[in-house]
Amino acid sequence: MENYRLNNLNITLEREGARRFTKASYPIRYGRYSEIETREYLFQFNLNGDIKYIRGLHQDWPHPAEWLKRTEADDWVYYTAGGYRGIYHTLGEYYLPCLPYPSNSVYGYNPFTDENIQNALTAWNRFQVNLRRMLPNGIPSKVKDFLFLVSSRNSNALRKKSEKLHQIIGGQVSVLPPDTRHVDYEVIPLMLADGCRYHCGFCCIKTRQKFRPRSRDNVRQQIRQLKSFYGTDLANHNALFLGNHDALAAGHEHICMTAAEAYAAFDFEKAYVKNPTLFLFGSVGSLLDAGDHLFETLDQIPFYTYINIGLESADAATLRSIQKPLEISKIEDAFQMMLAVNRSFPNLEITANFLLGDHLSALHYQALVELIRNRLDRFYSKGAIYLSPLNTSYDNRKLLSKFVEIKNLSRLPTYLYLIQRL
Ligand code: SF4
Repeated sequence: MENYRLNNLNITLEREGARRFTKASYPIRYGRYSEIETREYLFQFNLNGDIKYIRGLHQDWPHPAEWLKRTEADDWVYYTAGGYRGIYHTLGEYYLPCLPYPSNSVYGYNPFTDENIQNALTAWNRFQVNLRRMLPNGIPSKVKDFLFLVSSRNSNALRKKSEKLHQIIGGQVSVLPPDTRHVDYEVIPLMLADGCRYHCGFCCIKTRQKFRPRSRDNVRQQIRQLKSFYGTDLANHNALFLGNHDALAAGHEHICMTAAEAYAAFDFEKAYVKNPTLFLFGSVGSLLDAGDHLFETLDQIPFYTYINIGLESADAATLRSIQKPLEISKIEDAFQMMLAVNRSFPNLEITANFLLGDHLSALHYQALVELIRNRLDRFYSKGAIYLSPLNTSYDNRKLLSKFVEIKNLSRLPTYLYLIQRL
């Protein structure tokens, strides 16, 4: 780590952050990064010189332990500690990510209407534009190179960069698996298949496409282009999301070869941040069809793997009303398989989503409690249940109170699913 003073700026290059993702109730940074501290703000940058975090240092900043984070999709997300709103209880994390686009959050707080947050984003843009003019002669070349790099990554360049990411993978990721919260949603997206099997009526993130795996050539091209896209900052990444809505249906060979090739190409073995993690979505059908051979292989690869399955409901009338074309017996079989896999494979974890809605029937909740309480003899810490608020719900208070009631009955870790895009 090297530190320089330039006028009223404090510049630190190559600061070393945490090497493992952890749950922390204070601002924690992962990987290697650089920062510029002004009197009013702390600006932090990834190894490509892209702005990544902004934290206000002045007294009007909403909370000294809260910050803004920019994603590779060029979204600014505000991390709030949530006061006494029980964020850890509901999300399993100490911070609530507040998104700048509509999502299914049951928390009404919108920090982007706060003028202090707006001022921070304006201050960053102004600072970035003025940076070149602030460069005097005679400063160490390392600092000068860093400041030139930062000054070249203006908002226009960063927006184009995010478009490039979407061009590489063939579109925006409309929703990340809920388990990606364990790596603060810092995943490299790699599309293994498009479309999904069921085209459920209630789903707001589906595409019209039929399920279709990408070709091996397409996947290899994505890997090559993603490696160049992440560039120097690749060293800070250790997590891979195999997309899109049902990558599990792509089958044993496609999944395992892709995971192995990406692991080697992205050099995850030497990544600064340890414990590589693989995330994918699966469906009831792809889980039931997967077979032990796939689970045995995933258990052996150098990733800890999370597979998230959309079960939605174990009540027949609810499945009909949300137009999910599945029998109850299949939902129950998938749930039992999830329990069995979680007990048999230490490096593999299957999690499941169920719906939460203020107009869903009592039978939906009774069937859910039957599964996640009555079918289990004790509490199990592996295999989280995510309750996903339907966007047709209006009464957030009622939703939260229903969530708490179910969580207290559940014998599996139970959290709210916050839909985030990339
Ligand atoms: S819930 Fe899953 S399976 Fe159903 S339409 Fe949405 S993405 Fe497809």
